[in-house]
Amino acid sequence: MAEFDLPDEAATLALGAALARRLRAGDVVALRGDLGAGKTALARGLIRALFGAAIEVPSPTFTLVQTYDPPDGPAVWHVDLYRLEQPEEAIELGLEDAFADAVSLIEWPDRLGPYLPARRLDLTLTHAGDGRRASLAGGGDWPARLKGLSL
Ligand code: ADP
Ligand code: MG
Repeated sequence: MAEFDLPDEAATLALGAALARRLRAGDVVALRGDLGAGKTALARGLIRALFGAAIEVPSPTFTLVQTYDPPDGPAVWHVDLYRLEQPEEAIELGLEDAFADAVSLIEWPDRLGPYLPARRLDLTLTHAGDGRRASLAGGGDWPARLKGLSL
């Protein structure tokens, strides 16, 4: 649906920021790619665009979930399911509520098995030389919503 060359980390952050402006409550973004592909960096750019450039965005590797609550507008849930052993654990974390009401950014989304929402945006990062390449694909109204997206 859309592809981007990301020559350096700044470009990954910029793609996250550009995407931030297209999101609304109930959106689920599956961040795909190997360890080190740049999933957390993309989430960082996105969250900083919404919550301020100074905000810390740690990787939720150990906490599994980091939530960001604005004074208005939807919360953002940044989730890293690498360490999840059973999909049911994600439900215990309250993820289904986030899918309904928040913006959900999910690293290692396939750990969710049957609980991964079908109505989602898939954002896949791959290594390309020293940089990365991003491809975005989603059903429903995602193609229309992402029209003209640029870094
Ligand atoms: P992941 O969450 O997918 O494991 P991270 O976001 O932690 O990956 O990023 C891993 C490393 O890749 C970081 O050092 C980050 O700065 C770097 N990185 C992110 N995007 C790019 C890019 N477009 N080009 C080069 N390095 C990048
Ligand atoms: Mg990560």
